[in-house]
Amino acid sequence: MRSLLGGKGAGVAEMRRIGVPVPDGFTVTTAACVAAMRGGGTWPDGLWGEIQAHLDALERRTGRVLGAAERPLLVSVRSGAVFSMPGMMDTILNLGISEQSAAGLAAESGDPRFAWDSYRRFVQMYGEVVEGVPGQAFEDELTALKDRRGARQDTDLTVDDLRDLTATFRRVARESTGHDLPTEPREQLRRAIDAVFASWDSPRAQVYRRLNDIPDDLGTAVNVMQMVFGNKGGTSATGVCFTRNPATGAKERYGEFLLDAQGEDVVAGIRTPRRLQELETVLPEAYARLMSAMDRLERHYGDMQDIEFTVEDGTLYLLQVRTGKRTAAAALKVARDLVAEGLIDTETALRRIDPAQLDQLLHPALDPDHTATPLTHGLNASPGAAVGRLVFDADTAAAQGVLTAHGGMTSHAAVVARGMGKPCVAGAGDLRIDADARTLTIGGTVLTDADTVTLDGTTGAVYPGALPLVPPRVTDDFSTVLGWADDVRRLGVRANADTGADAVRARELGAEGVGLCRTEHMFMATDRLPVVRRMILADTAASRQAALDQLLPVQQADFEEIFTAMTGLPVAVRLIDPPLHEFLPDLVEQSLLVQRLEAGGEPGELGQARALLARITSMAEANPMLGTRGVRLTLLHPEIGVMQTRAIVRAALAVRARGLDPRVEIMVPLVGYAEELRRMREIVVATADEELAAAGVTDLAYRVGTMIELPRAALTAGEIAEHADFFSFGTNDLTQTTIGVSRDDAEGSFLAAYLEEGIVPADPFASLDADGVGELVRTGVERGLRTRPDLETGVCGEHGGDPASITLLDRIGVDYVSCSPYRIPVARLAAARARLDDAARDDA
Ligand code: ADP
Ligand code: MG
Ligand code: MG
Repeated sequence: MRSLLGGKGAGVAEMRRIGVPVPDGFTVTTAACVAAMRGGGTWPDGLWGEIQAHLDALERRTGRVLGAAERPLLVSVRSGAVFSMPGMMDTILNLGISEQSAAGLAAESGDPRFAWDSYRRFVQMYGEVVEGVPGQAFEDELTALKDRRGARQDTDLTVDDLRDLTATFRRVARESTGHDLPTEPREQLRRAIDAVFASWDSPRAQVYRRLNDIPDDLGTAVNVMQMVFGNKGGTSATGVCFTRNPATGAKERYGEFLLDAQGEDVVAGIRTPRRLQELETVLPEAYARLMSAMDRLERHYGDMQDIEFTVEDGTLYLLQVRTGKRTAAAALKVARDLVAEGLIDTETALRRIDPAQLDQLLHPALDPDHTATPLTHGLNASPGAAVGRLVFDADTAAAQGVLTAHGGMTSHAAVVARGMGKPCVAGAGDLRIDADARTLTIGGTVLTDADTVTLDGTTGAVYPGALPLVPPRVTDDFSTVLGWADDVRRLGVRANADTGADAVRARELGAEGVGLCRTEHMFMATDRLPVVRRMILADTAASRQAALDQLLPVQQADFEEIFTAMTGLPVAVRLIDPPLHEFLPDLVEQSLLVQRLEAGGEPGELGQARALLARITSMAEANPMLGTRGVRLTLLHPEIGVMQTRAIVRAALAVRARGLDPRVEIMVPLVGYAEELRRMREIVVATADEELAAAGVTDLAYRVGTMIELPRAALTAGEIAEHADFFSFGTNDLTQTTIGVSRDDAEGSFLAAYLEEGIVPADPFASLDADGVGELVRTGVERGLRTRPDLETGVCGEHGGDPASITLLDRIGVDYVSCSPYRIPVARLAAARARLDDAARDDA
């Protein structure tokens, strides 16, 4: 009944049902909160009457009356949403306490210290939560009193101190609100419940929901529960525990407690809590009960639990139980152990691990014990931690990590960083970067290229100086759990890999081939760029061919490395894709160079610079993304495609001669017309066959296919398939061309606003747009298969590593996804989850 009672209410009810000791109480449902919100804060008719009837019943059951002078009933009023929102909403303890009931409580317990401690806590919480008194005002008074008394801890204060403190707190509240706190206990209760309803819409709760995709209209439940007291001296305690270690997953009791304390004291860090194990010596009976309750709850829920407890005078009560949040490493270990212990099956285990979380394991991480304070925060665009000196230009950088002032989660910086497995904090809006002065300013702090910073790409935090890191490990748990995923999934998982090193890494991480090898990256290397430029700028066919002849062996060597790493598995090499001017100097920079040389330089140099400027100007395009690129480029300059085909086939022959098994796929980008592919295929096949014939080889199979990344290609896939052995949907470009947005321009501007305003449900570059782009993929697959039933279909692009997109692609029925090496484990698990979800849907 989680959606009605909230997570906390359902947990408490379940514990009571199975006989774990919890205090008595009742839950006001989320439906009541929703009704109150709809009424603009006015409660629905009858709600207050119902609550009072339940309170009457609670008073009868406990033999106590709320706020009475003798044997008073005190309650807690606790928020509790359907999805856990830790620390986002409010709870009030000790409600019902007043001058007279504090006296009654002191008399009953024989412990006036405890009574006044409870009272001062109530005034503070009620003041903050219900009356909006700034919490700091109370904290300041407490600190001042402790200083006056030379007290280190709250527990060092005397009864009289606490009595004075309560009076001071009431004065603080009166000065802040202009009136006394209400003393009528039922009126306090009504206002407290109303404040908890309202805390659902507090700004911090709203922000948290947006960040965690929690709908705004669920509302919170309110749990009214009899107070039990952990602050009744040395035989009382309060604490928090986990049934296993949430950081490592180890099967051990994990937790902390404080003697003579209440509520949040443990987590608030007011006093240093003690290790759970020490409770055994102090309160052995309560400890033994706690151990058996922990076992019971873990078995009951079949998962690691996070538990809040209080011991009052030696008697144990559990106050909350929920599934414990854990690190990725712990998630894998717990899953594996629970399966081994027979508590759950492997499919349940797979359903419980969030694929996105696996990313954490593949990058060095910050030592979790660090205590540094961040300088600022940005988006956690690529996980892991990096330590390094600041560098302000790409030429001098050998990047450990990337920090940007602008750009989103799928900005190029972020995509590239994820691809390389480098941590990235993107769009840190407080940064002011002066690239010329080589300074970075955050508020009042100015850092230069002499400074070192630490980036935490997992959280988006930026720290000054070098923090300690812990290295990534592919553990046994990791391999075991991903092995289960491989047994379940239907989708193949390949890697986007441009180098031999990428391919090796990808294979280690479980890639079943390369789905996209981008050849242009090979042109960008500093030793090759001059040759590429000579090729582009050549005036004659002969000089162009000379440059190409120089490039061929270099490309061949690259391909050999990749074919070697992927022996036995397919490698799809994409022919050159970007427009040629991307390999030339920037137009503006070249103009400036010419100006500089005009002001005083070698005449020869000036002449060359001018000629180059003229070429760059003539090749410049207004919309390079839609210009002379992809197959258009190779059809205009077939010699480039011929050179690349030769390099690919020669590499395959060389690798085969070493006894390995290269599986060659040649992929043509940006095809919009079947005729483009027909012609390009002719060139590729003629060249490849010529190479094979020259080598006297007849049995080296290769396949020729195309990217589908234009809407026209998806719609005419039936005709295109006549010339293709395979389709690879390039969903990055397909998204740009379908929606008609340029990613680089959109992410920094309107797309951010669209996401904020809810005009689009998700960033279409991060998560495949199901209704638009997804439909084109479906159409392309269907039409292609109608022409060629054995057509193989895959998806390359960032979406191939995104769990939500993978679920969609699994349903559409493509054969494989291809993603950056570090996303491969995520994709393997997400592909398995897609199957399990589908099976669950079919059952329903
Ligand atoms: P949160 O959602 O922030 O954890 P809770 O409603 O769980 O807030 O309350 C915080 C803490 O207050 C609990 O962990 C528990 O220690 C204490 N608390 C809540 N209700 C009671 C109660 N009826 N008796 C004793 N302590 C309580
Ligand atoms: Mg709690
Ligand atoms: Mg493309």
